[in-house]
Amino acid sequence: MEPESKQPDAASSPAKRKRAEFEDDDIEVLVGTEQARFVVHKHIICERSTFFHSACSQRWMEEKRAIELVDDDPNTFNTYLKLVYGGGLRAIDPQKPFLEYIRLYSMADRFGDLDAANAAIDGIIQFSDQEHQVPNRGLVRLAMLSSSAHSPLQRLMIDFYVREISEVSIDNLEEDNVLPKEFLAAVVKEFVRIARAGNVANGLWKELSTCASEKPKCYYHQHNDRFPACEDATRPK
Ligand SMILES: [Zn+2]
Repeated sequence: MEPESKQPDAASSPAKRKRAEFEDDDIEVLVGTEQARFVVHKHIICERSTFFHSACSQRWMEEKRAIELVDDDPNTFNTYLKLVYGGGLRAIDPQKPFLEYIRLYSMADRFGDLDAANAAIDGIIQFSDQEHQVPNRGLVRLAMLSSSAHSPLQRLMIDFYVREISEVSIDNLEEDNVLPKEFLAAVVKEFVRIARAGNVANGLWKELSTCASEKPKCYYHQHNDRFPACEDATRPK
């Protein structure tokens, strides 16, 4: 979706047809310092996002139509809207997927849209598995600082560094000012947990030695009554 335009396929979506009696369903979202303008269907985005649900209630009471997201990136919001309107994650830039998935996760996390956060996690795991790469230190820093504490994204970053990096440089770690202290502490704790598990017969060993792409589908997902678990959750992806 481009700024200044409504989703072209939105009018034919089941949700739109169901509530076609509402003519006043558009809201305006102004994103970033440049105030890139997006027009979206209120009921579609509010159904997905607790943030928008709350913001719309307040704004509607004040009879305003615009919601401002000054600190957000228009490209990330564009990616988010594509996902919300059923377009999947094709808007992700293949040149920098980790960065875009992490930004999308951070936005979805704040919006309270667990489906979008789960989709971003799946994207990171899939790309990592395909390309045999993990996010670099700068991306780990972004992931740690832009998502809530102990979030699935933070757990994934820690697991990548503990289980999937063949060679971790510990030179000059004392002077590392990129990786947050909380991240380094979590990595150390995880290594200690592995060391204590010791015995290969221990069931914990299997969990500790399984990489992200081999874990059950919902391992890094968040679900609740509003966002129920994936149907094939028990099977590896
Ligand atoms: Zn799931």
